[in-house]
Amino acid sequence: MSEQSEQAVDTQALDRYECRACGYVYEPEKGDDKHDIPSGIPFADLPINWRCPVCSAKKQAFTSIGPAGQVSGFRENLGYGLGVNTLTPTQKNLLIFGALALAFLFFISLYGLQ
Ligand SMILES: [Zn+2]
Repeated sequence: MSEQSEQAVDTQALDRYECRACGYVYEPEKGDDKHDIPSGIPFADLPINWRCPVCSAKKQAFTSIGPAGQVSGFRENLGYGLGVNTLTPTQKNLLIFGALALAFLFFISLYGLQ
């Protein structure tokens, strides 16, 4: 998958990876006892022939779910929610009431045409 190569290497060093086939999660802090993978090995450094210890899916079947202890969706919020999250409450209110006022004016103008 090309999406993995687009991520910066340093931020995914200790990311956990979830098997999309069975839901098993590889945690770098724990390693993988079944395949004698010691703790501290990033998913990217696992052998190319490493497979899911539960369902034997290949590495390509795994997807990054971020470092342990992070709220799921954290990365998505950083990327997609930035525009709104950086607004102050006052700006948000202005945005909401501005949109309402516009909608109201639009409705009134339609009403006036009839
Ligand atoms: Zn699996």
